[in-house]
Amino acid sequence: MPYLVRDRLFFGDIKAAAEVLKKGSAEITHVLSLLSSASISFFSGWRADMCIPAEEIKKVFVGAEGSPRKSLAPEKLLYSLEHAGPELKLVRMAVPLKDTEDEDLLDYLDACLDFIDQGRKEGSVLVHCFAGVSRSAAVITAYLMRTEQKSMEDALESLHEVCDLVCPNDGFLDQLSLFEEMGFKVDTESPIYKRFRLKILGHSYKQGEKIDSFVFGADPGLPPSEFNPSEEALEGNQRSTAYRCKKCRRIVALKENVVSHVAGEGETCFEWQKRKASNRANNRFQEQQCSSLFVEPLKWMTSVEEGALEGKLSCVHCEARLGYFNWSGIQCSCGSWITPAFQIHKSKVDISTV
Ligand SMILES: [Zn+2]
Ligand SMILES: [Zn+2]
Repeated sequence: MPYLVRDRLFFGDIKAAAEVLKKGSAEITHVLSLLSSASISFFSGWRADMCIPAEEIKKVFVGAEGSPRKSLAPEKLLYSLEHAGPELKLVRMAVPLKDTEDEDLLDYLDACLDFIDQGRKEGSVLVHCFAGVSRSAAVITAYLMRTEQKSMEDALESLHEVCDLVCPNDGFLDQLSLFEEMGFKVDTESPIYKRFRLKILGHSYKQGEKIDSFVFGADPGLPPSEFNPSEEALEGNQRSTAYRCKKCRRIVALKENVVSHVAGEGETCFEWQKRKASNRANNRFQEQQCSSLFVEPLKWMTSVEEGALEGKLSCVHCEARLGYFNWSGIQCSCGSWITPAFQIHKSKVDISTV
Protein backbone atom coordinates (compact mmCIF):
# COMPACT_ATOMS: atom_id res chain seq x y z
CA MET A 1 0.00 0.00 0.00
CA PRO A 2 1.31 3.44 -0.77
CA TYR A 3 2.02 5.73 2.17
CA LEU A 4 0.46 9.18 2.32
CA VAL A 5 3.26 11.71 2.82
CA ARG A 6 1.35 14.93 2.32
CA ASP A 7 -2.02 15.85 0.92
CA ARG A 8 -2.09 14.38 -2.62
CA LEU A 9 1.39 12.93 -2.32
CA PHE A 10 2.01 9.20 -1.95
CA PHE A 11 5.11 7.15 -1.60
CA GLY A 12 5.63 3.46 -2.35
CA ASP A 13 7.45 0.55 -3.95
CA ILE A 14 7.07 -1.13 -7.29
CA LYS A 15 4.19 -3.28 -6.07
CA ALA A 16 2.18 -0.23 -5.15
CA ALA A 17 2.84 1.22 -8.59
CA ALA A 18 1.92 -2.02 -10.36
CA GLU A 19 -1.35 -2.11 -8.45
CA VAL A 20 -2.23 1.42 -9.45
CA LEU A 21 -1.29 0.82 -13.08
CA LYS A 22 -3.33 -2.36 -13.19
CA LYS A 23 -6.47 -1.28 -11.44
CA GLY A 24 -6.35 2.46 -11.57
CA SER A 25 -6.94 4.48 -8.44
CA ALA A 26 -9.67 6.71 -7.17
CA GLU A 27 -7.09 9.18 -5.99
CA ILE A 28 -3.80 8.76 -7.82
CA THR A 29 -3.59 10.48 -11.20
CA HIS A 30 0.19 10.75 -11.60
CA VAL A 31 2.91 8.16 -11.14
CA LEU A 32 6.59 9.00 -10.92
CA SER A 33 8.70 5.89 -11.52
CA LEU A 34 12.34 6.02 -10.45
CA LEU A 35 13.88 2.84 -11.81
CA SER A 36 17.02 1.69 -13.55
CA SER A 37 16.77 1.58 -17.33
CA ALA A 38 16.60 -2.20 -17.13
CA SER A 39 13.72 -2.11 -14.66
CA ILE A 40 11.91 0.46 -16.75
CA SER A 41 12.06 -1.92 -19.72
CA PHE A 42 11.07 -4.84 -17.53
CA PHE A 43 8.19 -2.84 -16.13
CA SER A 44 7.05 -1.93 -19.64
CA GLY A 45 7.24 -5.61 -20.57
CA TRP A 46 5.17 -6.57 -17.57
CA ARG A 47 2.65 -3.89 -18.36
CA ALA A 48 2.36 -5.17 -21.94
CA ASP A 49 1.91 -8.74 -20.65
CA MET A 50 -0.86 -7.54 -18.38
CA CYS A 51 -2.46 -5.72 -21.33
CA ILE A 52 -2.28 -2.43 -19.49
CA PRO A 53 -2.50 0.22 -22.16
CA ALA A 54 0.10 2.97 -22.48
CA GLU A 55 0.65 5.78 -24.89
CA GLU A 56 3.86 7.71 -25.07
CA ILE A 57 3.58 11.45 -24.66
CA LYS A 58 7.23 12.35 -25.06
CA LYS A 59 10.82 11.48 -24.30
CA VAL A 60 13.21 14.15 -23.12
CA PHE A 61 16.95 13.75 -23.52
CA VAL A 62 19.76 15.55 -21.76
CA GLY A 63 21.00 18.48 -23.79
CA ALA A 64 17.63 19.30 -25.33
CA GLU A 65 17.62 22.80 -26.71
CA GLY A 66 17.70 25.52 -24.10
CA SER A 67 18.40 23.15 -21.22
CA PRO A 68 21.26 23.96 -18.86
CA ARG A 69 24.60 22.16 -19.09
CA LYS A 70 24.34 19.12 -16.86
CA SER A 71 26.73 16.50 -15.66
CA LEU A 72 24.98 13.77 -17.60
CA ALA A 73 25.99 12.74 -21.09
CA PRO A 74 23.99 14.70 -23.68
CA GLU A 75 22.30 11.75 -25.36
CA LYS A 76 21.09 10.26 -22.09
CA LEU A 77 17.36 9.91 -21.46
CA LEU A 78 16.23 12.38 -18.82
CA TYR A 79 12.70 11.06 -18.60
CA SER A 80 9.83 9.65 -20.60
CA LEU A 81 6.22 10.59 -20.17
CA GLU A 82 3.20 8.49 -21.01
CA HIS A 83 -0.48 7.98 -20.45
CA ALA A 84 -1.04 4.62 -18.82
CA GLY A 85 -3.41 2.47 -16.85
CA PRO A 86 -7.10 1.75 -17.34
CA GLU A 87 -8.50 4.11 -19.98
CA LEU A 88 -5.06 5.77 -20.12
CA LYS A 89 -6.12 7.93 -17.22
CA LEU A 90 -2.77 8.02 -15.45
CA VAL A 91 0.11 10.26 -16.37
CA ARG A 92 3.33 8.42 -15.74
CA MET A 93 6.86 9.76 -15.79
CA ALA A 94 9.72 7.27 -15.85
CA VAL A 95 13.15 8.48 -14.79
CA PRO A 96 16.16 6.20 -15.33
CA LEU A 97 17.86 6.31 -11.97
CA LYS A 98 20.00 3.62 -10.37
CA ASP A 99 20.21 3.18 -6.63
CA THR A 100 23.98 3.53 -6.40
CA GLU A 101 26.08 6.02 -4.46
CA ASP A 102 27.72 7.42 -7.56
CA GLU A 103 24.46 7.93 -9.45
CA ASP A 104 23.75 11.50 -10.49
CA LEU A 105 20.54 12.39 -8.68
CA LEU A 106 20.82 16.18 -8.88
CA ASP A 107 20.40 16.34 -12.62
CA TYR A 108 17.05 14.59 -12.48
CA LEU A 109 15.65 16.53 -9.55
CA ASP A 110 14.15 19.51 -11.36
CA ALA A 111 12.16 17.31 -13.72
CA CYS A 112 10.98 15.09 -10.85
CA LEU A 113 9.98 17.90 -8.51
CA ASP A 114 8.18 19.83 -11.24
CA PHE A 115 6.27 16.68 -12.15
CA ILE A 116 5.21 16.20 -8.53
CA ASP A 117 4.10 19.83 -8.33
CA GLN A 118 2.08 19.51 -11.50
CA GLY A 119 0.58 16.19 -10.41
CA ARG A 120 -0.56 17.58 -7.09
CA LYS A 121 -2.26 20.46 -8.87
CA GLU A 122 -4.17 18.10 -11.12
CA GLY A 123 -4.72 15.22 -8.73
CA SER A 124 -2.51 13.03 -6.58
CA VAL A 125 0.97 11.72 -7.20
CA LEU A 126 2.55 8.39 -6.36
CA VAL A 127 6.34 8.49 -6.22
CA HIS A 128 7.85 5.03 -6.29
CA CYS A 129 11.09 3.19 -6.92
CA PHE A 130 11.76 -0.53 -6.57
CA ALA A 131 11.82 -1.03 -2.83
CA GLY A 132 10.54 2.36 -1.69
CA VAL A 133 13.63 2.90 0.43
CA SER A 134 16.28 5.00 -1.31
CA ARG A 135 15.47 6.60 -4.66
CA SER A 136 11.86 7.60 -4.06
CA ALA A 137 12.77 8.68 -0.52
CA ALA A 138 15.56 10.90 -1.88
CA VAL A 139 13.25 12.57 -4.39
CA ILE A 140 10.47 13.11 -1.86
CA THR A 141 12.98 14.48 0.62
CA ALA A 142 14.13 17.00 -2.00
CA TYR A 143 10.49 17.83 -2.71
CA LEU A 144 9.76 18.53 0.95
CA MET A 145 12.95 20.58 1.18
CA ARG A 146 11.93 22.71 -1.77
CA THR A 147 8.25 23.17 -0.97
CA GLU A 148 8.58 23.53 2.77
CA GLN A 149 12.04 25.11 2.89
CA LYS A 150 13.17 22.38 5.22
CA SER A 151 16.72 21.29 5.86
CA MET A 152 17.60 17.85 4.59
CA GLU A 153 17.55 16.49 8.12
CA ASP A 154 14.13 17.90 8.91
CA ALA A 155 12.68 16.73 5.61
CA LEU A 156 14.06 13.23 6.15
CA GLU A 157 12.78 13.13 9.68
CA SER A 158 9.37 14.20 8.51
CA LEU A 159 9.37 11.42 5.93
CA HIS A 160 10.49 8.96 8.58
CA GLU A 161 7.35 9.68 10.53
CA VAL A 162 5.35 8.41 7.57
CA CYS A 163 7.49 5.38 6.83
CA ASP A 164 10.43 4.29 8.91
CA LEU A 165 11.97 2.26 6.08
CA VAL A 166 13.18 5.29 4.17
CA CYS A 167 16.92 5.47 3.77
CA PRO A 168 18.43 7.26 0.76
CA ASN A 169 21.91 5.95 -0.06
CA ASP A 170 24.94 7.99 1.06
CA GLY A 171 25.62 9.41 -2.39
CA PHE A 172 22.06 10.71 -2.56
CA LEU A 173 22.37 12.21 0.92
CA ASP A 174 25.53 14.06 -0.16
CA GLN A 175 23.69 15.42 -3.16
CA LEU A 176 20.68 16.44 -1.11
CA SER A 177 22.98 18.44 1.13
CA LEU A 178 24.36 20.17 -1.98
CA PHE A 179 20.75 20.85 -2.99
CA GLU A 180 20.26 22.48 0.39
CA GLU A 181 23.48 24.50 0.02
CA MET A 182 22.31 25.75 -3.38
CA GLY A 183 19.11 27.07 -1.78
CA PHE A 184 16.75 24.18 -2.61
CA LYS A 185 17.45 24.34 -6.31
CA VAL A 186 19.89 22.87 -8.77
CA ASP A 187 21.89 25.90 -9.83
CA THR A 188 24.15 24.66 -12.64
CA GLU A 189 26.13 27.92 -12.53
CA SER A 190 27.01 27.73 -8.85
CA PRO A 191 30.50 26.66 -7.73
CA ILE A 192 28.85 23.90 -5.72
CA TYR A 193 27.31 22.41 -8.83
CA LYS A 194 30.54 22.87 -10.79
CA ARG A 195 32.48 20.86 -8.23
CA PHE A 196 29.80 18.21 -8.45
CA ARG A 197 29.99 18.17 -12.24
CA LEU A 198 33.75 17.69 -12.08
CA LYS A 199 33.35 14.85 -9.66
CA ILE A 200 30.84 13.11 -11.92
CA LEU A 201 33.07 13.75 -14.92
CA GLY A 202 36.04 12.22 -13.10
CA HIS A 203 33.93 9.22 -12.28
CA SER A 204 32.79 8.79 -15.90
CA TYR A 205 36.40 8.99 -17.03
CA LYS A 206 37.39 6.27 -14.59
CA GLN A 207 34.57 4.09 -15.90
CA GLY A 208 36.11 4.39 -19.33
CA GLU A 209 33.35 6.51 -20.78
CA LYS A 210 34.12 8.89 -23.58
CA ILE A 211 34.27 12.44 -22.29
CA ASP A 212 32.12 14.50 -24.56
CA SER A 213 33.06 18.14 -24.92
CA PHE A 214 29.39 18.95 -24.41
CA VAL A 215 30.03 18.84 -20.69
CA PHE A 216 32.96 21.26 -21.04
CA GLY A 217 32.49 24.93 -20.27
CA ALA A 218 32.24 27.43 -23.14
CA ASP A 219 35.55 28.86 -24.31
CA PRO A 220 35.65 32.34 -22.76
CA GLY A 221 38.14 33.41 -25.44
CA LEU A 222 35.86 32.62 -28.38
CA PRO A 223 34.07 34.02 -30.27
CA PRO A 224 34.89 37.71 -29.68
CA SER A 225 31.22 38.68 -29.36
CA GLU A 226 30.82 36.31 -26.48
CA PHE A 227 33.80 37.16 -24.38
CA ASN A 228 32.90 40.83 -24.39
CA PRO A 229 29.98 40.88 -22.02
CA SER A 230 27.15 43.15 -23.07
CA GLU A 231 26.93 46.70 -21.77
CA GLU A 232 24.03 45.55 -19.71
CA ALA A 233 26.08 43.00 -17.87
CA LEU A 234 28.78 45.54 -17.13
CA GLU A 235 26.28 48.06 -15.86
CA GLY A 236 24.71 45.36 -13.77
CA ASN A 237 27.95 45.29 -11.85
CA GLN A 238 28.75 41.90 -13.21
CA ARG A 239 32.32 42.65 -14.16
CA SER A 240 34.09 39.40 -14.30
CA THR A 241 37.68 38.63 -13.56
CA ALA A 242 39.41 37.14 -16.56
CA TYR A 243 42.65 35.21 -16.71
CA ARG A 244 44.60 35.97 -19.86
CA CYS A 245 47.56 34.18 -21.38
CA LYS A 246 50.58 36.25 -20.35
CA LYS A 247 52.18 35.88 -23.73
CA CYS A 248 49.32 36.68 -26.12
CA ARG A 249 46.59 38.09 -23.84
CA ARG A 250 43.96 35.65 -25.03
CA ILE A 251 41.34 34.96 -22.35
CA VAL A 252 41.92 31.53 -20.92
CA ALA A 253 39.36 31.41 -18.12
CA LEU A 254 36.87 33.59 -16.31
CA LYS A 255 36.47 33.68 -12.59
CA GLU A 256 33.25 31.68 -13.04
CA ASN A 257 35.25 28.82 -14.50
CA VAL A 258 37.43 28.49 -11.42
CA VAL A 259 36.52 25.55 -9.24
CA SER A 260 37.55 26.52 -5.74
CA HIS A 261 39.09 24.04 -3.33
CA VAL A 262 39.72 23.80 0.36
CA ALA A 263 43.27 24.99 0.75
CA GLY A 264 45.97 23.19 2.62
CA GLU A 265 44.09 20.14 3.78
CA GLY A 266 46.29 17.72 1.94
CA GLU A 267 43.37 15.58 0.91
CA THR A 268 40.64 15.52 -1.62
CA CYS A 269 38.83 18.78 -2.08
CA PHE A 270 35.63 16.98 -2.85
CA GLU A 271 34.81 15.92 0.65
CA TRP A 272 31.39 17.47 0.79
CA GLN A 273 31.09 17.79 4.53
CA LYS A 274 34.44 19.43 5.14
CA ARG A 275 33.93 22.04 2.52
CA LYS A 276 30.79 23.43 4.01
CA ALA A 277 32.13 25.27 7.02
CA SER A 278 35.18 26.88 5.54
CA ASN A 279 34.28 27.39 1.92
CA ARG A 280 34.31 31.14 1.63
CA ALA A 281 37.33 31.90 3.77
CA ASN A 282 39.31 29.32 1.92
CA ASN A 283 38.46 30.64 -1.50
CA ARG A 284 40.14 33.85 -0.56
CA PHE A 285 43.00 31.99 0.98
CA GLN A 286 43.35 29.99 -2.19
CA GLU A 287 43.50 33.05 -4.40
CA GLN A 288 46.36 34.46 -2.45
CA GLN A 289 48.38 31.41 -1.54
CA CYS A 290 48.05 28.75 -4.17
CA SER A 291 50.35 28.86 -7.17
CA SER A 292 47.71 27.39 -9.44
CA LEU A 293 44.13 27.90 -10.48
CA PHE A 294 41.93 24.90 -10.96
CA VAL A 295 39.20 25.35 -13.52
CA GLU A 296 36.43 23.28 -15.07
CA PRO A 297 37.37 21.68 -18.38
CA LEU A 298 36.82 24.25 -21.12
CA LYS A 299 36.20 23.79 -24.80
CA TRP A 300 39.65 25.09 -25.81
CA MET A 301 41.31 22.22 -23.97
CA THR A 302 41.45 19.98 -27.01
CA SER A 303 44.20 17.86 -25.48
CA VAL A 304 41.70 16.73 -22.84
CA GLU A 305 39.19 15.56 -25.43
CA GLU A 306 41.70 13.16 -26.90
CA GLY A 307 41.19 10.97 -23.89
CA ALA A 308 44.63 10.83 -22.26
CA LEU A 309 44.88 10.44 -18.51
CA GLU A 310 47.09 13.49 -18.23
CA GLY A 311 48.67 16.09 -20.45
CA LYS A 312 49.68 19.67 -21.00
CA LEU A 313 47.31 22.55 -21.33
CA SER A 314 48.54 25.05 -23.90
CA CYS A 315 47.18 28.36 -25.09
CA VAL A 316 45.18 27.75 -28.28
CA HIS A 317 46.38 31.03 -29.73
CA CYS A 318 50.12 31.13 -29.04
CA GLU A 319 50.71 27.61 -27.75
CA ALA A 320 52.34 28.85 -24.57
CA ARG A 321 52.25 26.25 -21.81
CA LEU A 322 49.63 27.21 -19.28
CA GLY A 323 49.37 24.15 -17.08
CA TYR A 324 48.44 20.52 -16.85
CA PHE A 325 45.45 18.31 -16.57
CA ASN A 326 45.28 14.96 -14.84
CA TRP A 327 42.18 12.87 -14.31
CA SER A 328 43.76 11.21 -11.28
CA GLY A 329 44.43 14.55 -9.68
CA ILE A 330 47.16 17.09 -9.09
CA GLN A 331 48.40 18.36 -5.77
CA CYS A 332 48.13 22.10 -5.38
CA SER A 333 50.98 24.03 -3.79
CA CYS A 334 48.77 24.38 -0.69
CA GLY A 335 48.80 20.61 -0.23
CA SER A 336 45.26 19.84 -1.40
CA TRP A 337 44.68 17.15 -3.96
CA ILE A 338 42.33 18.21 -6.72
CA THR A 339 40.73 15.30 -8.57
CA PRO A 340 40.29 15.50 -11.48
CA ALA A 341 42.51 18.54 -12.06
CA PHE A 342 42.58 21.13 -14.82
CA GLN A 343 45.35 23.32 -13.60
CA ILE A 344 46.56 26.70 -14.82
CA HIS A 345 49.78 28.13 -13.39
CA LYS A 346 49.16 31.60 -12.07
CA SER A 347 52.60 32.63 -13.32
CA LYS A 348 51.41 32.00 -16.89
CA VAL A 349 48.36 34.25 -16.77
CA ASP A 350 47.47 37.84 -16.02
CA ILE A 351 44.34 38.89 -14.24
CA SER A 352 42.11 41.53 -15.76
CA THR A 353 38.47 42.49 -15.80
CA VAL A 354 36.33 42.10 -18.86
ZN1 LIG B 1 48.68 32.66 -25.56
ZN1 LIG C 1 45.56 25.19 -3.24
